[in-house]
Amino acid sequence: MTQIELLLQYQQADMAADAFENQIKRNPNRIALKKNREFLVEQQNAAKKLEGEVAHMTDRVETIKLAIVRLEEQLNQMAKRMQDTPPADLAKAQEAAKDAQKLLSDLEDYEKEMRQIQKDAAEREKLEKDIRLKFAKAKGEYDQQKVAYEAEYKEQMKELDQKRKEAEAKSADLEPALLEKYKTIKLHCTPPVAKLYSGQCTGCNMSLPQATLRKMKNDSGIIECENCGRMLIQM
Ligand SMILES: [Zn+2]
Repeated sequence: MTQIELLLQYQQADMAADAFENQIKRNPNRIALKKNREFLVEQQNAAKKLEGEVAHMTDRVETIKLAIVRLEEQLNQMAKRMQDTPPADLAKAQEAAKDAQKLLSDLEDYEKEMRQIQKDAAEREKLEKDIRLKFAKAKGEYDQQKVAYEAEYKEQMKELDQKRKEAEAKSADLEPALLEKYKTIKLHCTPPVAKLYSGQCTGCNMSLPQATLRKMKNDSGIIECENCGRMLIQM
């Protein structure tokens, strides 16, 4: 068998292995698994965000509760003062009433804010619970999917390994320099070997100059496409 024939046989086996590897990557079960994993992460992040918001709200409620206690104390003190030493005149009485009114109004604002926060927090807690339930269900399905796909993947990798070995066996009798060249071209162009058809590279469809074509007859039957760099052979 000539080097060209060996090279073509090797390329065929090598391309078959590559195609199979791509097929593994595009496996619908693999893609579905990846999508579900992303969904799970999203849900987890959403639940975490809600949890953080609720914690923040709980802190705020605690602060408001303390503020309410302080206002109530102030109101009690004021009432006590009024009882102990009633205002001397109308102006003093009006001033005291105004102060009390201000404290009551602040108290009302705090209570209103607290009720709103408690309502918002309860809504978020419900939402978080829903997400966690949804997550648990999806996670169960995902785990099953994962086990099934892993078994499939293991089988496919075994088959890929077989194909790689077949290709490697076909490269055994190739000249090392030729194999090296093949691998170098493959880094940027695949398949690395193309046929020459009526003066054109079948890899990139570029026509080759007559001088290059003449060179082919003199060389070992392999020339390089000046456009894409592929090894060209004439069959
Ligand atoms: Zn070309």
